[in-house]
Amino acid sequence: MKKPKLREIKEALVSLISRPYTTRFPLEPHIPARGFRGQPQFDPEQCVGCGACANVCPSKAIDVQDVVQDGRGLRRLTHYASRCIFCGQCEANCIVEPKGIRLTDRFHLAYFEEKESTHSVQQELVVCERCGAVIGTVRHLLWTARKLGQLAFSHPVLIEFLQQSLEMKIEVRSALKDKPVNRIDIFRIICPRCRHEALLSDEKIPT
Ligand code: SF4
Ligand code: SF4
Repeated sequence: MKKPKLREIKEALVSLISRPYTTRFPLEPHIPARGFRGQPQFDPEQCVGCGACANVCPSKAIDVQDVVQDGRGLRRLTHYASRCIFCGQCEANCIVEPKGIRLTDRFHLAYFEEKESTHSVQQELVVCERCGAVIGTVRHLLWTARKLGQLAFSHPVLIEFLQQSLEMKIEVRSALKDKPVNRIDIFRIICPRCRHEALLSDEKIPT
């Protein structure tokens, strides 16, 4: 048997009385370092449901599901921690400020079932009243209108939203049923799928 060298004996003795280099987790709580990239979390107050985070996610860890029923729609965004590589692209590319999704310092992600590690956020959808195509979420359209400022008045869908946010009522009628009064009143493209024509009549303030 080879005899241990003096240096090795010294190292063994020193390690007996010195603190370990590793942390004592899980015996003691672990505090992640500054800038640690842990589980991303949606902020339902800030998220507008645009889906940009899902588009840029390289591992498809964010799922976007649109459910339309009886002319009403809901968009659900779900984050799957089991697919996430914690790259931070979702937060970096989120369109709103403060961010609608943020990386937290949560690192303890061991679960028995996948659904325990997922979380979702829901947004109301705007759908074409004729063909049911999804136009966007209510909050995303409002966010876009605010971002565009006066330019928003050049888009029929955004006009309607701006009127609603001012608590004004606008009447939108199908140009197929009602004969247009003036050519300039007709917005020819309102739905990107069915090219539904709509006639916007004069705005009315509710009495
Ligand atoms: S951190 Fe990266 S992998 Fe995880 S959800 Fe965000 S973009 Fe996708
Ligand atoms: S607002 Fe941000 S978090 Fe919400 S869907 Fe858009 S990119 Fe994702």
